[in-house]
Amino acid sequence: MEAYCPHCHQALLWQQGNLYHCEACHKTYQQVALCPDCNKPLEKMQACGAVDYFCQHGHGLISKKRISLRYTEQA
Ligand SMILES: [Zn+2]
Ligand SMILES: [Zn+2]
Repeated sequence: MEAYCPHCHQALLWQQGNLYHCEACHKTYQQVALCPDCNKPLEKMQACGAVDYFCQHGHGLISKKRISLRYTEQA
């Protein structure tokens, strides 16, 4: 899955875990998965190598295909 910088729209370089780096901005971004129904951050659940996303606001398990990704700047 390609990741793009929210500021300059260049492709981000994956660092580790949920962290991505933009060479143009010299900034690190954290990838956050959002619920497509309520736009709130999803809880990431990892089991047996599979990743599931869970909405704690009443929408239950969300398929990986439906999540929206946001990149937030690391302080
Ligand atoms: Zn950038
Ligand atoms: Zn939700």
